[in-house]
Amino acid sequence: MSKFDGVMHRVPINENNPSIICNDSLCKKCQLCKKACSGVAGVLGTYNLEENGDNAVCINCGACITACPFNALSEVYNIAGVLQAIHDDSKKVIFLTAPAVRVSLGDAFGMESGTNVQGKMVTALRMLGADVVLDVTFGADLTIMEEASELVYRIQNNGVLPMFTSCCPGWVKYCEIYFPELIPNLSSCKSPIAMQATMVKTYYAKKMGLDPKDLVVVSVAPCTAKKAECKRPELSAGMKSLGLEGQDCDMSITTRELSVMIKEAGIDFANLKDSPYDPFMGTGTGSGMIFGNTGGVMEAALRTAFFLIEGRNMNDDELPKFEAVRGFDHVKEAEVTLGGKTIRVAVMHQMSEAAKGIKELMAGDKHYDFVEIMACKGGCAGGGGQIKIIKKPLQEAARVNRNTTIYDMDKKANIRFCHDNPEIKAIYKDFLEAPLSHISHELLHTTFEDKSWELTGKK
Ligand code: SF4
Ligand code: SF4
Ligand code: SF4
Repeated sequence: MSKFDGVMHRVPINENNPSIICNDSLCKKCQLCKKACSGVAGVLGTYNLEENGDNAVCINCGACITACPFNALSEVYNIAGVLQAIHDDSKKVIFLTAPAVRVSLGDAFGMESGTNVQGKMVTALRMLGADVVLDVTFGADLTIMEEASELVYRIQNNGVLPMFTSCCPGWVKYCEIYFPELIPNLSSCKSPIAMQATMVKTYYAKKMGLDPKDLVVVSVAPCTAKKAECKRPELSAGMKSLGLEGQDCDMSITTRELSVMIKEAGIDFANLKDSPYDPFMGTGTGSGMIFGNTGGVMEAALRTAFFLIEGRNMNDDELPKFEAVRGFDHVKEAEVTLGGKTIRVAVMHQMSEAAKGIKELMAGDKHYDFVEIMACKGGCAGGGGQIKIIKKPLQEAARVNRNTTIYDMDKKANIRFCHDNPEIKAIYKDFLEAPLSHISHELLHTTFEDKSWELTGKK
């Protein structure tokens, strides 16, 4: 007998799931969440509750929430915890907003789909009580400095290839459960939010004369998996390096939760004036921005890998070489020449489809050197924590509009290459020394663990 016997009409969710919760009184038994968990996430149908200790396997991606038309499924709300921190005078609350949030938040306020509401979002966060608001495009720039260096190192030193990106916690968990043999292939880089949170608790706090114990770091993400990610025991290196207990990122809220907070505070969002991010560690480049799109991490990493190998930036007419990794095909492939060597790259999104691509790779049918994987369809722009759009055609149109706005922001950015971000240069000069240095490894890199026992119940 399973503890889920009474709710077999919907996707099973463990009670202690840090990301997803179900209010069964709202459930209309339509089963659309089950379809999403098997068809989009590639999870339901791969395990047997009777054999794995009644464990509802989950990669925390939120595809089931996006599919639920009756809001029976939702993220585990962290709003109360965030408000408590804001109202605690002894705490300084630092918000980190991920690239894709700004192109979806406006949907909750009747704005045209794909509108960039970055400035209004920062104003709203300050009105809600944020002490500091920083842009995760900075963390993305830092991730690329490390990840592009790791790729170049692996290529030049016969390292384990293909290297897989590791910034999507949905994919990372899928890899740990379903493809543990690929863990050595995962980049050891933390995600942009995780890197930035660590830097806030260490470098930022030191520079600003703040006590890290008094800081509460809250990420605002298009993602439900970030709630699980920030609880990973591995992601406390910053606090540990200071001899302190606690996680580097204290809480994560979704774009939807932020919209609820804004509405509950009675803020007239559509008519807000724009505000800039806080200055120190607050802004990033066009490369950091495109992390929000499928293909963006790959493109940003290749721009910097090109610089590291060729010693110069790509010209405007060379950048379109990477356009093969843009768009919505589930598996996109390209060849790029770096230092006279041909590098075969692939970009995969939507976990169920990416899993098929990985199986082809493992069967030896495909050969790649670098692979980007995002669990959600369209990447984070279509993330499981974004403002929900139920009607399929509108959902698809929103994904395209968000994607287009993000690429447009990169095109218009003053600085388009992570390695040209002056604050990134300063942080290496002042603190981190160099990408892949000892201290970078200690603070910005992480480890992964075989979790295939989730399928079998046997550790
Ligand atoms: S969050 Fe993703 S993996 Fe977990 S139940 Fe929902 S669809 Fe399935
Ligand atoms: S999609 Fe929502 S309403 Fe439909 S079965 Fe799942 S939880 Fe219930
Ligand atoms: S694709 Fe983005 S939103 Fe979706 S699980 Fe991965 S990191 Fe989160």
